[in-house]
Parts: sequence; structure tokens; C-alpha cells
Amino acid sequence: MNDDRKTGAPVPDREQENENVDFIRAIVKDDLAAGRNEGRVHTRFPPEPNGYLHIGHSKAILLNYGIAQEFGGKFNLRFDDTNPEKEETEYVESIKADLRWLGADWEDREFFASDYFDQLYAWAVHLITAGKAFVCSQSLEDVRAYRGTVTEPGRPSPDRERPAEESLRLFEGMKNGEFDEGQYTLRAKIDMAHSNMKMRDPLLYRIRKVHHHRTGDQWCIYPFYDFAHGQSDAIEGITHSICTLEFEVNRPLYDWFIENLPVPHKPRQIEFARLNLTYTVMSKRKLLKLVQEGHVSGWDDPRMPTISGLRRLGYTPSSIRNFNERIGIAKRSSTVDLDLLKWALREELNQTADRVMAVLRPLKVVITNYPEGQVEQIECVNNPEDPASGTREVPFSREIWIEQDDFREEAPRKFFRLKPGAEVRLKHAYFITCDAVVKDPDTGEVVELRCSYDPETRGGDSPDGRKVKGTLHWVSADHAVDAEVRLYDNLFREPFPDQGGNYLDNLNPNSLEVLTGCKLEPGLGGVEPGYRCQFMRQGYFFADPQDSQPGRPVFNRTVTLKDSWAKLEAGGKTG
Ligand code: ATP
Ligand code: MG
Repeated sequence: MNDDRKTGAPVPDREQENENVDFIRAIVKDDLAAGRNEGRVHTRFPPEPNGYLHIGHSKAILLNYGIAQEFGGKFNLRFDDTNPEKEETEYVESIKADLRWLGADWEDREFFASDYFDQLYAWAVHLITAGKAFVCSQSLEDVRAYRGTVTEPGRPSPDRERPAEESLRLFEGMKNGEFDEGQYTLRAKIDMAHSNMKMRDPLLYRIRKVHHHRTGDQWCIYPFYDFAHGQSDAIEGITHSICTLEFEVNRPLYDWFIENLPVPHKPRQIEFARLNLTYTVMSKRKLLKLVQEGHVSGWDDPRMPTISGLRRLGYTPSSIRNFNERIGIAKRSSTVDLDLLKWALREELNQTADRVMAVLRPLKVVITNYPEGQVEQIECVNNPEDPASGTREVPFSREIWIEQDDFREEAPRKFFRLKPGAEVRLKHAYFITCDAVVKDPDTGEVVELRCSYDPETRGGDSPDGRKVKGTLHWVSADHAVDAEVRLYDNLFREPFPDQGGNYLDNLNPNSLEVLTGCKLEPGLGGVEPGYRCQFMRQGYFFADPQDSQPGRPVFNRTVTLKDSWAKLEAGGKTG
């Protein structure tokens, strides 16, 4: 990572043809220029419906959808649902909702690999008939043991030379439920000495007597992913089968299937590096465990790197798209700084979010020289970055709340917030000076400040040019709306949670702090779930789509105003 001098954003290393075109788009351009695929461009996103989508998937979605859009092509959504026991309709629905939210439109082209089970079965029969597949009785352990190693060739299965007619009969028996799970498999007959282990007579079908979320109990044999994936692309007329780098070793096998089957179309596979993020785990298996073991409240817990978690935290689709544009597409793996994702969000919210006042940990201030019962409406700018956002009125009165942190009785010289005898500005309102501190007689805890205000400083400016360094946000006590505020932080405390043993050991014990009795300016009382704003000096916040309701707001902290290192740099400065 280096720094982007213009914008201050952390920038990942890229590997691009030129400013605008990554290597995959360059291939697509080239194919179009050469007239391949009858001038068509057709991509797809092929999730396995065994979990919710995460931020890594957004890279694959936006890449595939983006290419289809830019080159006048088509984009399919295809569920690769060959693994019946792990797949659920709940996942299918969540995946579709997430794609829609990200803005990826598959129109009416929603497919399932299970739609192709008949075709795949017919193609398996085709291979057997051609002497290129056989029914094998080896146990999975033996299959593994016979496969050999990278340095040693494998040994052939004793069933490798089984006559085609016999394999056909057995395969039909497998399909008809005549055998037990594990009794037989169907394997391709390729090369047990191949340098690529994937080519050593790979498994094509297994017996699984389980219910499938779409085909029900129709099938008791299921194709392996490797036998389904490329052929599904071929059936759909996919021109560019874009997938992540770990499938590079599968490519010779996928090509072998395509060469040896009467497919209607030959897709080209291109691999790119998957997205890894610091402070994040991305494997669905690991995310599922976080959910199942209750480390988070669900797949959409705002700390999860899932699309639904990010959405609930307050991310916008456009910030995720901008993030993906920034990271670009590369052929070599790297890990992107989580701060870049947060930066993309902050950049956007800075332009769009209204600045409002909310006191999260309230301390009462009584302005002793302010007339009792008087209320003034103070005009506040909604968003200085957006003149069209206008202003609003916020009531000011004798008793207000300020942040506990904004007062220190024993303060260092450079503490520019409130301390005994010091003067600060209340944002948009007046200068106040702290005259006295009221403490709980038993605990010694500060419970109230007695301050006086200067009526000449209305609007936050002093007529005599007197300077104050600190500016505090505040909320009128009589008018405040109570709220719950959830302060979310990184789910993991280590930048590489997977390293060094168990990722669960690296969970951040302070990833969520729930504050109740927070005091909001009155206009926030009625906000709808999904409302976004900046709590001045605190960060960007989002009215929780599930738990917030008008009159009883619940806010999630989406992102702080600055990343933590920037905060340290800024030292004690405020305002
Ligand atoms: P996991 O290993 O977590 O189960 P997966 O890759 O098996 O993830 P799929 O549902 O198969 O999950 O993924 C669908 C598509 O999304 C695939 O084409 C895959 O290459 C892509 N994808 C998955 N994770 C990432 C990632 N971190 N970055 C970019 N693309 C990804
Ligand atoms: Mg997968």
C-alpha cells in the first residue's frame, strides 16, 4: 500500500494494462476485435447458495456485471447448487436481494445448475459410452490414496478398465437408487500420471440420498462441482467464465470436459485474484461458524463482512462500487486495507450526510445566566459540503447536554475543550465558560457543570474577535430525544485474523458497545429506519433498518470520521 497524494486514500497495488482497462477487459476487447463468439459478450455470477454474499463476492459481481454492461453484453445469475446438503432457499433469496441492492441486473436470466441435471447426466453417459468415464467402487479414502502426490504418479483404480456397458448399467443403477451412498462413484478416465492432480481420473458423480432444495428427492446422485460448473457455462453460452485464481488448476480439467462433450458453446475461463481484506475473514465456512456459535447476531450482523451486514451497518451500494473501482482487478493475490473500504464510504457520506448533534455520553450543563423558560431556535447548516441541503432550526435553552469527554476537571494545557474557568464555543450557538463543577457527594463523580454564556456571541462568533479553540456539540435537555446507539468496531483485532491458529481467538472483544440514554437533537426523533447522518465530531450513523422506529431511534455507527491512526495524529484537538 502506498498513499494517493491527491485524495489521501490508501491505494492498493494494481496490475493494469492502462488507466482504464484491466487485463480481463483487455481480453474481452481483443475477443470482440477478433470477432470471436459471434461478437457476443456474456458473463455470469455463479454463487453456491450455501451462505450469504460477502464483500469479496461484490468484486466478482461488479466485474462480471460491469463487463456485460460496458460491452453491450448479457449477465446471468446462476446458482451452482450441486451440493444438496449445504444449500438452502434462504441463501438463494438473500443472494438475490444483495445483487439487486448492488445494482446488478440479471433481468430474466436466473438459472440453477440443478436445472441442468438431466443434461449433465446425459453427458456423463456420453463420456462412459466413449470410454472416457467409468463407475468406480473404490472408497473415497482409496481414491485419495491411489491419486498419488505431486511428485509421484497415481495408481489406476481396479475398476478403471470396466467395460462401458457395465459402467452404463451401474451408473443407471446409481441413479435409480439401487446402491448405498459411497458404494460407487463415476469417474473420468483421463491420466493417473498427469502432472496436474485434478486430471487423475477425477470424480464426476456421487451417490447422496438427500433432499435437494429444488429437485427434491428426484435425484440420489449429484454431479461434483467440477463436472457441473464449466458445462453450465457452456449451456448458457457464457463467453468469458471469470473466476478466482484458485480455479486456475481446474482449467485443464474444465477444458477437457468441453473438448470431450458435445457442448453447444465453448467458454473461455479467465482467473483473477480474489479480494482479501485486513481485519476480515471471507470464507463462508468461517462466517457460518461465527453465526452458528453466536459470536455475531446473524449473517446480517453489522460487523459481518457480508453484503447484508455492510448494508445494515449503513454502507451504500455506490460506496462499495467505488471501492471496487479503486482496487481494480489483478492476476496476483494481495490483501487490501480495510481502511480503503471505510475511506470510500466516508468520501461519499461527507458529501451527502447531514450534520446533526447527538450526545452519546451525556453530562448536564446549566447555563446560570440564561433566562429560565427561554427557548431560542438556532439555525444550523445541514451539510457544509452541500449548499442545497439548507439549514434547520435546533432549540437552545438553559439546560443542555454535552459529551462527558468534552469536560476534564484536571486538564492538560493542550486540552481545548471545557475545563474549569475555560471558555468554549457551543456549535452554532454561544460561547460558554465553566464556572463550577457539581459532584456526587458520595462518589465524587462529576454530575453537572454550572456555566455562564456570553449573549454577544450568538451564532458562535465573538464580536470582539475573542478566540476559543474548542467547539462542542450539544443538545437542549428539555428537547432531547433519547436513543440507543450501537458503536461498532472491527470484528477482529488482528489485521490477519487467519494467521497464527484459530481466527476465533482474534475476535475483538470490543467490537460492539451499546449506549442507551443518548441525547439527540429533537429533529431526529421521527427519522425512518435507514436514515443516514453525521453525528458531529463522532462519525456517520445509520438508523437501524430492523430495530429503529420513528419516536424510538436506534442508530448504528457506520464509520468513524477518521481512521484510528488519523485520530492519533490529531492528538487532543477538537472542534
Ligand atoms: P467460499 O470459499 O467462501 O465458500 P466461494 O468462492 O466458494 O467462497 P462461491 O459462492 O462459489 O463462493 O462464489 C461465487 C463467485 O464469487 C465465484 O465465482 C468466486 O470466484 C467469487 N468469489 C468468492 N469469493 C471471492 C473473493 N473474496 N473475491 C472475489 N471473488 C470472489
Ligand atoms: Mg465455491
